[in-house]
Amino acid sequence: MKIKFLGGCEEIGRSAILIDDNIVLDYGLRPSDPPEIPVGNISPKSVIVSHAHLDHSGMVPSLMVNHRDLSPEVYVTSITGDLANLLSKDTIKVGKDQGFCFFNENDIMKMRENTHFVDYGERIALNRSDYGADYEFELFNAGHIPGSVSVHLKKEDEAISLHYTGDIKIGETRLMEGASLAEMPSSDILLVESTYYGRDHQDRREQEHEFIDSIKETLYAGGTAIVPCFAVGRTQEIVMILHSYGLTPYVDGMGLGVFRTFKNHPQFLKDAEGLNAAFSDAKFVNARKRKKAVSEPSVIVTTAGMLNGGPVLYYLKKLHDDPKSKVLLTGYQIEGTNGRRLLEERRVETNGEMLKVDTCVEQYDFSAHAGDAELKKLVSQFCGNGTEVIFPVHGEHTVEFAAWVKDNFECDAISPKVGEEYIVE
Ligand SMILES: [Zn+2]
Repeated sequence: MKIKFLGGCEEIGRSAILIDDNIVLDYGLRPSDPPEIPVGNISPKSVIVSHAHLDHSGMVPSLMVNHRDLSPEVYVTSITGDLANLLSKDTIKVGKDQGFCFFNENDIMKMRENTHFVDYGERIALNRSDYGADYEFELFNAGHIPGSVSVHLKKEDEAISLHYTGDIKIGETRLMEGASLAEMPSSDILLVESTYYGRDHQDRREQEHEFIDSIKETLYAGGTAIVPCFAVGRTQEIVMILHSYGLTPYVDGMGLGVFRTFKNHPQFLKDAEGLNAAFSDAKFVNARKRKKAVSEPSVIVTTAGMLNGGPVLYYLKKLHDDPKSKVLLTGYQIEGTNGRRLLEERRVETNGEMLKVDTCVEQYDFSAHAGDAELKKLVSQFCGNGTEVIFPVHGEHTVEFAAWVKDNFECDAISPKVGEEYIVE
């Protein structure tokens, strides 16, 4: 089996892994300014998308070509298909503002036409007549966001199997049941995400208490709590947390459209009713209502989670020097993003200008990724079941992760670089 890494190596973003020049696992973009995209020019026969986050799905429409039959087939869960459609349209809009263009509306339409919805546990055969070899794959709940999957791919001819975790979360959150390690089959090759390698998460409930206490303090002081969140997953999780503590937030940006999509696929949610209740209490903001949202003490849940664009920049411009207000980041801020810059330099870039932020900035960890202990547990299960080689991807510490695997197991481990190709037999 030939594995070529097109992105997402020693970095987070633009995940894309090409198998035998035939099948690509994820095809994302890195949300930097300008966005980075996977390397190389590929024409795969199919794309299997692990979940809808842009760093995994964002470049799929760019694989479509003029003739529909020559465009790759796209395999996703139904909710991922709907979310990818929504987010791709937004990428075109953002591209118009920021001066990039990777695909157009026609490509999105073709992606829709070529999309096959796959359920957890369903086995899909990809046949020799089209692929030059027989493959079969199966999707497992990855617990990361609704519809997220780990992919188990078998190449029948060589009797070799590969498991790609995608972004994975084992512990449960308010929004999601965690991935089940017990369900995961053994495999010869493991591609494992590494976002939190070397770091564990704080206890979720403690984290919630600290977050809520800090927001209440801000409100009592007469300030605004700005809570930047990813549109997909984090916004909904945070609105559920706020609701459970009796707080009614303003919600601005794509998170509302995403909630509506979630609502159409309740089978992918742990608590669809709880999510609906939380959103029916929230107040939705558009560009016209933003002034009102900042005119009173309030909590504003808004995109983008890493501050690269979106309405959050409006709120920062308004409140950057207000000592009563606060920015509460809700997740990891990857290198090269405005969020990372805010943490390290107390500045953000907006419309080409640097804005100094004097309000208090706090970081919370409502991560939807496995922490260090969970990643190690996953790896030891696979190694115990005969995995021969592990490729840590999607992380800034994959070299250390690979070294840890080799030190602890009879298993080879390689931290691949972007553009590298490996043949595993
Ligand atoms: Zn993700």
